[in-house]
Amino acid sequence: MTPLDKVGEFGLIGRIQQTVELKQPSTILGIGDDAAILAPAAGQELVISTDLLTEGVHFDLTFCPLKHLGYKAVAVNVSDIAAMNALPTQIVVAVSIPPRFTVEAVEELFEGVKLACEAYNVDLVGGDTTGSRAGLTISVTALGQVAAGQAVRRSGAGPNDLLCVTGDLGGAYLGLQVLEREKQVWQADPESQPELGNYPYVLQRQLRPEARMDVIHELRELGVVPTSMIDVSDGLASEVLHLCQASGTGARIFTENLPIANPTLEVANEFNLDPIMCMLNGGEDYELLFTVPLADHAKLKNHPDITIIGHMVDKSEGANLITKSGQPVPLKAQGFSHFDHG
Ligand SMILES: [Mg+2]
Repeated sequence: MTPLDKVGEFGLIGRIQQTVELKQPSTILGIGDDAAILAPAAGQELVISTDLLTEGVHFDLTFCPLKHLGYKAVAVNVSDIAAMNALPTQIVVAVSIPPRFTVEAVEELFEGVKLACEAYNVDLVGGDTTGSRAGLTISVTALGQVAAGQAVRRSGAGPNDLLCVTGDLGGAYLGLQVLEREKQVWQADPESQPELGNYPYVLQRQLRPEARMDVIHELRELGVVPTSMIDVSDGLASEVLHLCQASGTGARIFTENLPIANPTLEVANEFNLDPIMCMLNGGEDYELLFTVPLADHAKLKNHPDITIIGHMVDKSEGANLITKSGQPVPLKAQGFSHFDHG
């Protein structure tokens, strides 16, 4: 194990830089100068998004492997680029590192960053490293490109548009419940072995989420252009309300249509948590929520990874969850906030 002060900031950047591969045609110059140089293709617009993850607020290193953390930090940013209907191209990464970290630990973190770069075909083109007197902080800024005028905003939905979500919901939140329970057990008895092996699905949803770039590509192939889109980072209810607010509509979503995976349902039952609430208010699923014109129904209705959960309505109707008995329940954004949990 190598203490950080042995290699210093420049040594560390040098070690990271050595292993970085550049693949995007728009990357002219990557790490190593005062700034990177990029040349977006003609007719493309740039989209940019940034996220800051702080130890003790967004992640807990007790059970979060550094490699997963690096991967997740990139994936959540790529998810925001996807939610604009853009393709990610470059990232920059800034970390502040507490003295307790070794060079090997930082390299493990960047191993995760690089794995995500490969998975999403983005270039790591710059960043910064500094010391930290508190916890670990990692900030990722992602750049992407989209043909001029083709970006999808939150504001384009109209009444009768179908409301769709990718994948399934609630898993990341239940993964967090498992991790927090095991941490408490471990704190009470440091000799105990955490029981994590029984929960692979929800733990993966929490620790190593994926951005749904696959769906962005599929929608393009199907010739479907969403009228509005957002990624599900804070819980479905809050994201539906964001779309409604930006688009000036109401929405109706149906309890029976909400997608949940079997392993997620099993963990919800084990924890005595209402699976519907986990889907509506649990955060960090990083699925895409989008609206499409009613005319696209046939193109999406049999898609294995897209669920039509409801539709937009006139603003005057508000945003409601329709229960099995047909009862409307107003949606509330009571979701998941890192400030509450921190
Ligand atoms: Mg977002």
